[in-house]
Amino acid sequence: MDRKHSRSVNLNDGNLMPVLGFGTFAPDEIPKSKANEATKIAIDVGFRHIDAAYFYQNEEEVGQALRDKMADGTVKREDLFYTTKIWSTFLRPELVRQCLERSLKKLGLDYVDLCLIHEPIAMKPGEELVPKDASGKIILDVVDICDTWEALEKCKDLGLTKSIGVSNFNHKQLELILNKPGLKYKPVCNQVECHPYLNQSKLLEFCKSKDIVLVAYSALGSHRDPNWVSSDSPYLLEEPILKTIAKKHNRSPGQVALRYQLQRGVVVLAKSFNEKRIKENFEVFDFELTPEDMKVIDGLNRNFRYDSMSFFLLSVSIDICPGTVLFQVRRITLIIHF
Ligand code: NAP
Repeated sequence: MDRKHSRSVNLNDGNLMPVLGFGTFAPDEIPKSKANEATKIAIDVGFRHIDAAYFYQNEEEVGQALRDKMADGTVKREDLFYTTKIWSTFLRPELVRQCLERSLKKLGLDYVDLCLIHEPIAMKPGEELVPKDASGKIILDVVDICDTWEALEKCKDLGLTKSIGVSNFNHKQLELILNKPGLKYKPVCNQVECHPYLNQSKLLEFCKSKDIVLVAYSALGSHRDPNWVSSDSPYLLEEPILKTIAKKHNRSPGQVALRYQLQRGVVVLAKSFNEKRIKENFEVFDFELTPEDMKVIDGLNRNFRYDSMSFFLLSVSIDICPGTVLFQVRRITLIIHF
């Protein structure tokens, strides 16, 4: 199946993005080789959109999987849609290209299809992924996000990435980019946490009005990495309403959670390193939720976020006041989700 024939959405820069993507993030204790095996299985079952990031520290393994699948004739480079992300320690404009080139080198590719600003949080540049001071607090940096965006625009012009976008931006931060004087390219997408407990309906409406695709991560209820997700978070796939709807369609709750996003015009990512579940997650194009199902699932929204920023708010090395929204001005260091 080539890109043209996989189910795709048109991006605002004329490129196509497959509507179902394979997530590659896994907590540190999972051997990196698993990302390689799982990515090959994902490509074999039909995934063409692969979501990755410099931060995930497994782009060598994922890149090897892509190259293996190209070498054995399963796919051509142009069939694949590969996303990487510029990590927070590279948001100074002079470092953006360096981060992308590091990813390309690890991947063994000449270009990526999409490069995102991973999050609107700048951290002190350096080799440490999450730089901390002597007391263990994260050291932030002050960067003008519009300068970061201009550096990303240059990467697109250089052909290092076909499309550019953002991740974890709220609508005010998107507006900073959209209203930037001299904007050359709009973000094609905003990748954010999105699932029935956090359906992002307002942000989705805003993105649609600006021709920006919303890409959902943690659509299956997240990886529940204890570093990021509180252990008392509800299990999305245990949700009785999802189970009932799944039973009615003879599907799994995971398939219903993915199908829900597709039917509301959201591109959705699904991470699994398990062969059976990888296959299952791709089987979401041959059934349809009814308008009533969609309404009931919409009703599950409770603005509940798995990827809690609270740990972060307690561990940064600047004074902040939880509950306030910081940095709505151009010099963005940190956001507080709301
Ligand atoms: P997710 O897709 O919500 O869920 C993954 C979890 O669900 C895994 O533990 C997986 O375990 C399990 N699972 C997968 N399919 C299943 C099924 N059909 N039935 C039951 N359980 C199933 O995970 P996520 O990692 O939070 O998000 C997906 C991707 O989004 C990431 O891999 C990453 O690429 C991206 N992401 C981006 C950001 C960002 O800041 N931009 C943040 C988080 C994630 P098994 O592996 O054991 O199947």
